[in-house]
Amino acid sequence: MKQNFAIIGLGRFGGSLCETLIESGQEVLAIDRDEDTINEYMNIATHAVVANAQDEMTLRSLGVRNFDHVIVAIGEDIQASILVTLMAKELGVKNVIAKAQNSYHAKVLYKIGADHVVHPERDMGVKVAHNLVSKNILDYLELSDEYSLAEVKVTNPKFYDKDLLTLNFRQRFGLNIVGIRRNKKLIISPAAEEKVLQDDCLLVIGADEDVDRLDAKML
Ligand code: ATP
Repeated sequence: MKQNFAIIGLGRFGGSLCETLIESGQEVLAIDRDEDTINEYMNIATHAVVANAQDEMTLRSLGVRNFDHVIVAIGEDIQASILVTLMAKELGVKNVIAKAQNSYHAKVLYKIGADHVVHPERDMGVKVAHNLVSKNILDYLELSDEYSLAEVKVTNPKFYDKDLLTLNFRQRFGLNIVGIRRNKKLIISPAAEEKVLQDDCLLVIGADEDVDRLDAKML
């Protein structure tokens, strides 16, 4: 389904977000106060506008409140990032995603109403570290300080050809299986009788230590 996104700030993060959303067929309004940056995105974004997003009238006149998602991708100017996030929420935007420079910045963004806060450098560091220490965790998404969604490759024959009811991941590991990736197919919310096959990848949600415990079982 087509959704519309307003991206404020087209640095490396906002810019790559813009290009990827456009590639996947979404509508993107790109806003940046720097004219050269906007010229770069003129032929990429659906609309690209030079504007200082710290000005409430500007945000109103651009109709930011009508967007499904507003991404505040301003980095270094923490004050601007906080102010714009606050104004976007006050204008009634349902989903405001803000980029944080550090954990204090992230805390403030949540406090003032950001729906999601991303911290790309830290998040990518966590991901790369998990990929380095584990052969079986293919992907990793931190949901909170304690919980994660992970994609774990099944390489232990003890798990092969058994159904989810028998394997009982919830009881044994405290993990919920939300999907199974088999070759290129993704089975979402697999039924209890679904069998786990060799080289399947399990999408699991649970506490970090439980994910690590499951990963250790695969060795
Ligand atoms: P990245 O890591 O994504 O490259 P960054 O953390 O270095 O970004 P900045 O370069 O400071 O962040 O900001 C990203 C973009 O946001 C820049 O292109 C900048 O021009 C734009 N920007 C900063 N403040 C505003 C503002 N008030 N209104 C509109 N755009 C802004």
